[in-house]
Amino acid sequence: MSDILKTIASRDPWEREFYQAVKEVVESVQPVLDRHPHGPESSILDRIIEPERVVTFRVPWMDDRGKVRTHRGYLVEMNGAIGPFKGGLRFHPSVNQSILKFLAFEQVFKNALTTLPLGGGAGGSDFEPKGKSDDEVMRFCQSFMRELFRHVGPHTDIPGGDIGVGAREVGYLFGAYKKLTNEFSGALTGKGLRWGGSLFRPEAAGYGCVYFAAEMLSTRNMSLDDQVCLVSGSGNVAQHTAEKLIQLGAKVVTLSDSSGHIYDADGIDAEKLRYVKVLKNIRRGRIREYADKYPASVFTPAGAEAGRNPLWSHRADCAFPCATQNEIGETDAYTLINNNIKLVCEGANMPCSSEAIDIFLGKKILFAPGKAANAGGVAVSGLELVQNSMRLSWLGEEVDERLRIIMKAIHRTCLETAEEYGTPGNYLNGANIAAFLKVVNAMLDQGVV
Ligand code: NDP
Repeated sequence: MSDILKTIASRDPWEREFYQAVKEVVESVQPVLDRHPHGPESSILDRIIEPERVVTFRVPWMDDRGKVRTHRGYLVEMNGAIGPFKGGLRFHPSVNQSILKFLAFEQVFKNALTTLPLGGGAGGSDFEPKGKSDDEVMRFCQSFMRELFRHVGPHTDIPGGDIGVGAREVGYLFGAYKKLTNEFSGALTGKGLRWGGSLFRPEAAGYGCVYFAAEMLSTRNMSLDDQVCLVSGSGNVAQHTAEKLIQLGAKVVTLSDSSGHIYDADGIDAEKLRYVKVLKNIRRGRIREYADKYPASVFTPAGAEAGRNPLWSHRADCAFPCATQNEIGETDAYTLINNNIKLVCEGANMPCSSEAIDIFLGKKILFAPGKAANAGGVAVSGLELVQNSMRLSWLGEEVDERLRIIMKAIHRTCLETAEEYGTPGNYLNGANIAAFLKVVNAMLDQGVV
């Protein structure tokens, strides 16, 4: 184990997700460190793994029955070397400091890959929006922002959405920010289209992920047409990954939420996906209702078999994990490989465990890490900020075209860097090394701060 990993393991042994994210990068960038053993600052790794700032705070709010509830809020500002901190806000009961440090760490490298001037951060709370009324979510968001507004702003830290933070939550958060600061600015992204949001922002992470997958397949003279695809999750990223896959002629056969997954052998077409969007975004229902609506499909509840997720046992050509971290473990990876999977493209952040990634890379299937494949989300957030500064809105086609160009550029950067550092075709190494070099060089230029 390298010294830096030993430091993390001994100093914060409970930060397992953060350790996993750092280990992946440290292993990838070893060839860079070997090439420059006596660089200007050999202890750069010590600095890059330490957040510039972590804030934790109390978030009290009143539920519909008049009971006061208290949650914990966080903001992790990981690295601002190439621009203001930017990352997602996550509201989910599993949120803790380790998860937000891993998300912020991933975000630093992802943002560097987008070519936009954005540093990396993350924030959130252990609050669960599921099952809460709109009024309860609003009161929580207002309380959360009563502390957050001190730390964010268009030139310092610009949060956007993540798990549990979609259009509704960003609306309530922005309303509170505006009230507290008396200022209408691009301090949050994912805003509504009528008040500063960008066309294609909701679609961006999912569409970008599919554009990236199409680029990868093209290196092996394949396309997405007629490919059978497994998609997990049924939130923002999953819905738009499925949507673009369907548009490009692929057959999507699964979707899921934390209660289980549905398998539709006939394929989820555009009309069925419209039903899912209403179910999830408006009625806020559960994915099992899909099987009631479309009886030819099958719902399988989650958790029946420990250590594996049955969603990944369906035969398919391509897999798009778009729900949450570590949703593909070692057993799932072997199952996918035994079923001749050709491509795994991470729509979520760190959805594949380290063991699963080693298996994919060992078998030389096409594997895209989330920091490259889902970077379209933050890229269009960056474009939203540009439009806010210019006080205008671009047409949808213009944003989509820019998204395609950015995803192509990230794909090329990953491939060329992997080749240059002796691991051709390894998108994981390519993404980590290219982003690491950009961030480290900026840090070195700016001195020891
Ligand atoms: P949403 O909240 O819209 O959807 C999350 C989906 O994942 C839901 O279907 C949810 O099910 C499921 N899920 C969440 N936690 C778990 C869990 N522990 N076990 C099983 N299923 C779970 O989030 P997003 O679609 O925005 O985010 C999904 C992933 O994509 C995350 O990893 C996020 O970090 C990443 N991402 C998001 C971007 C964005 O712009 N939104 C950009 C780039 C990456 P349920 O409703 O039952 O909880």
